[in-house]
Amino acid sequence: MKKDDCLFCKIANGEIPSITIYEDEFHRVFFDINPASKGHCLIVPKDHYDDIFDIDEAAGGRLFSLATRVSKALKKELDLEGMNIVQNNGTIAGQTVFHFHMHLIPRYQGDTVNVGWKPGEADMDALSELAKKVGDSI
Ligand code: 5GP
Ligand code: ZN
Repeated sequence: MKKDDCLFCKIANGEIPSITIYEDEFHRVFFDINPASKGHCLIVPKDHYDDIFDIDEAAGGRLFSLATRVSKALKKELDLEGMNIVQNNGTIAGQTVFHFHMHLIPRYQGDTVNVGWKPGEADMDALSELAKKVGDSI
């Protein structure tokens, strides 16, 4: 389903132009308008999902399957040395467009990309308890 007044619904369905790399029945892959590095692109489903919590497994599976193909094509055509796949969910996590999308960000020696966090310390007992709880909810 499409959502009115959603920028990526309009881009994914071709109502707003984008520099498109690839398109199929379910997806559009296009270059980010403010690229973090050369080749930074977005994989977007044509149906509207707000975020990872809203998406169904079949659509999620198709998206990641396409991400493997696009990643390999970028690697073939660019001199990239690595790739970050970033997918933000929620304002607190940096999401600014509330239509599910995956960032494919090629990495190069000396680039200015910054994807990271400060490593914390693990409490093994708390983690074991949490692993059981979350595992039971899957
Ligand atoms: P988010 O912060 O939600 O994970 O990522 C949104 C991304 O969409 C940003 O990297 C931003 O540059 C990109 N973006 C926002 N508006 C447009 C647009 O109109 N066209 C394209 N190609 N990218 C956009
Ligand atoms: Zn949308």
